[in-house]
Amino acid sequence: MSKSEEYDVLVIGAGISGEEAALNLANQGYKILIVEKDLSVGGKMIHLSKVFPTLDCSACITTPKVSETARHPNITIYTYSEVSNIDKKSKYDFRALLTKHPRYVIEEACTGCQLCEEACPVTVQDQYQYDLVGRKAVYVPFSIANPRVAAIDIENCSLCGACEKVCPADCIDFTQEEEEIQIKVKSVVIATGFKLFDPTLIPRYGFGVFKNVVTAMQMERQLVPTRPYNNVLRPKDGKVPDNIAYVLCAGSRDETVGNPICSQVCCMYSIKQAQLLMGALPMADVTIYYLHIRSFGKGFNEFYQQSKDMGVTFIKGKIGKIEEIEEGNLKLRYEDIESGVVKEANHDMVVLSTGILANDGISSMFKDKLELDPFNYVMQKDILANPAQANIGGVYVAGTASGPMDIPDSILSAGAASAEIAGYLKEGEDHEK
Ligand SMILES: Cc1cc2nc3c(=O)[nH]c(=O)nc-3n(C[C@H](O)[C@H](O)[C@H](O)COP(=O)(O)OP(=O)(O)OC[C@H]3O[C@@H](n4cnc5c(N)ncnc54)[C@H](O)[C@@H]3O)c2cc1C
Ligand code: SF4
Ligand code: SF4
Repeated sequence: MSKSEEYDVLVIGAGISGEEAALNLANQGYKILIVEKDLSVGGKMIHLSKVFPTLDCSACITTPKVSETARHPNITIYTYSEVSNIDKKSKYDFRALLTKHPRYVIEEACTGCQLCEEACPVTVQDQYQYDLVGRKAVYVPFSIANPRVAAIDIENCSLCGACEKVCPADCIDFTQEEEEIQIKVKSVVIATGFKLFDPTLIPRYGFGVFKNVVTAMQMERQLVPTRPYNNVLRPKDGKVPDNIAYVLCAGSRDETVGNPICSQVCCMYSIKQAQLLMGALPMADVTIYYLHIRSFGKGFNEFYQQSKDMGVTFIKGKIGKIEEIEEGNLKLRYEDIESGVVKEANHDMVVLSTGILANDGISSMFKDKLELDPFNYVMQKDILANPAQANIGGVYVAGTASGPMDIPDSILSAGAASAEIAGYLKEGEDHEK
């Protein structure tokens, strides 16, 4: 028979939005369960370099929140786990099934020493470095992961046993199986975030074919302190680039790829990266090809102006095609929108500012029909008056699960969700008296 556990609130997703909602509620005395499908909490923010518009270090802001969440006496976290069959039996009574996937490493015993990694002979692409480098089949996800423990990627493991022999804590365990736990909660927060647009869906940009065409997330990883190389390098030949182009709206505002909406963060994260590149590579030229610059938030327009003052070139241009020329350099063919003339320009590295999309499979977690908006984000019952409430009573949405937004707006959205849930739970407590 499977175990059963009871909490006040189930938070699905442990990015900045889920953590913020969980902490707000836990600090008011509510018992919170966070379920995160990844090996570590932290979401996308833990992988970013510095953040617009202040250029504060992203990890320095997020890791204290990550630790506070992990240590909070009112918060229980299950990583590498998923929930399904969320069934509303009555008001304040949701039942769900939690599935904990096996790491094949005893989480409580692993010290994160990484001796297993050194011994493992299998290397595959590292998803946490967005495929820029390799990782082993047994691996600690990344240096600031929480929990900082190893896991075995069983699909790629050759079962050679080398990790078992070297592990000083004796915590490799190939007998682990999926564990199921029955959950009972009074309320649910969906904080499942976003996924990134797959740029291979626009073949004319050459991503996956021309190695020096990278995504902005790959550039982000090259700019963080925990970066894979100790400088910004072209993947094809390891050369330091000196003429970098950004292509904005790659997979956003584009009916032809099924995503007609603005991703809201790509203009600003590209401007941010351009400024960071000017610091990292003082001799490099950076050109941003854009359709419109959307610098709508507090301090954003000043940040945009600052990048111009630093020497970033902005061209209002629609990219038709990217071709590889000699030495891995790239020729961009574009329509100069101001003059209406088709032009060409050569760069030695191209960054695609890929858009944000809704995550898959969110509604299938629920037994009742969870409504989505036309772009597959969680439908907000009343976007003006009640933006955190989903269509099912007692179910709330926080952060980018409801649409593209930046970190400050994700935190505000999580704040709104937690305030509404606290009110909802209080109403239930008053009713019981
Ligand atoms: C390249 C790039 C640079 C950026 N730079 C900036 C910046 O400088 N400043 C800024 O303000 N914003 C920036 N952003 C935007 C920022 O990343 C988002 O605003 C922020 O990460 C949103 O947080 P979130 O918690 O809503 O979603 P996420 O960070 O996506 O977190 C969602 C979490 O939910 C988990 N999850 C998903 N589905 C499930 C499931 N079914 N079950 C359990 N768990 C699940 C995921 O694994 C993840 O941990 C940038 C974005 C990109 C792509
Ligand atoms: S058993 Fe698997 S994870 Fe362990 S060292 Fe061998 S290949 Fe790597
Ligand atoms: S599994 Fe063992 S060897 Fe690997 S990091 Fe954990 S304690 Fe170290």
